Amino acid sequence: MSHGVGGSDAVRVAVRVRPFNGRELQSAAQCVVEMKDRQTILKDPAGARKLRPFTFDHSYWSFDGFEVQPNGAIVKTAPEYADQETVYRDLGQDAVQDAIQGYHAAIFAYGQTGAGKSFTMIGYNGNDGIVPRLARDLFSQTTENPQAGVEYQVTFSMLEIYNERIKDLLSSGGMELRLRQHPKRGFYVQGLHEAAVNSYSDVRKRMNLGVRLRTTAATTMNETSSRSHMVVTLHLKQIFNNAAGESTTKYSDVHLVDLAGSERAEASAAVSDRLKEGASINQSLSMLGNVISALAERGAGKTDVVVPYRNSVLTRLLHNALGGNSKTVMIAAISPAAINYEETLSTL
Ligand code: ADP
Ligand code: MG
Repeated sequence: MSHGVGGSDAVRVAVRVRPFNGRELQSAAQCVVEMKDRQTILKDPAGARKLRPFTFDHSYWSFDGFEVQPNGAIVKTAPEYADQETVYRDLGQDAVQDAIQGYHAAIFAYGQTGAGKSFTMIGYNGNDGIVPRLARDLFSQTTENPQAGVEYQVTFSMLEIYNERIKDLLSSGGMELRLRQHPKRGFYVQGLHEAAVNSYSDVRKRMNLGVRLRTTAATTMNETSSRSHMVVTLHLKQIFNNAAGESTTKYSDVHLVDLAGSERAEASAAVSDRLKEGASINQSLSMLGNVISALAERGAGKTDVVVPYRNSVLTRLLHNALGGNSKTVMIAAISPAAINYEETLSTL
């Protein structure tokens, strides 16, 4: 994503750097990322003094300053460490408020495979990411503490887009689903399972099921690397009943998207199928980039900018949530290691 979009309200962009992984620790990897306030500074490993600064709405340091407990839980030990709660509070929490007000929201995790997208969106080993935290907050601010006269209905859906094909992650049938256009509702996925959920634990169960079903293919980058976009949607319906017995309804969608790895095909041991897959992924990511850049320009007052929604399945599907009064958050996950310098540079 181009940097400098950070200023507008409609689109916020954040960067998060993960710790070294086991392989990087073993090979005594060099860290080429520094952060200072909102800036992320990348050091070219070839030219030791070449520093490239990038400014975002947030730069999150998750490289060090924490301890891993025996049960896998990560505990912050230094003030500079950005934990899951901090990232959620800055970037996720507002989406709950927006949804209650009747606005759509979308949060994306972008970056190379293994950079920390799924950790940030879903989380591992009890280190809950944005999806579970947001679901918990959504229920605590609606069904668990209802406003007088308001009825709430929440549904949860989870799908993946793999090579421009849509697959439901809540039903194991594996049938390809079609994107349709409704004159009022806009784009929707025909036949997608939209599970009624009444509590956080309902969401948790569905989410775990969906994660297990997600298409994965091994690459040299990361054994369980996901080559698909995953879209989780929490849909909130609020029915307001007044004393006269009339009712009005508000709908809102919160889309939480764990994007496919952004690495170029040649960075992984790509052969024919993998190459084709890589090309389709990169194309879909650049379409999303174009849409978000156009939205940021519009947010900055350029009203004549056309937003090219129609160019990919992902942007068509998210059309409603990206346009209008909705808010978009992009989180770029990066590796700290010198070996990933080129990919990190391209992500930033
Ligand atoms: P991606 O989804 O981008 O392919 P993952 O989220 O699976 O990458 O992250 C790769 C590895 O790095 C995982 O083992 C994950 O636990 C770890 N990791 C990623 N981000 C963080 C973080 N902020 N703090 C601690 N570990 C992290
Ligand atoms: Mg992942």
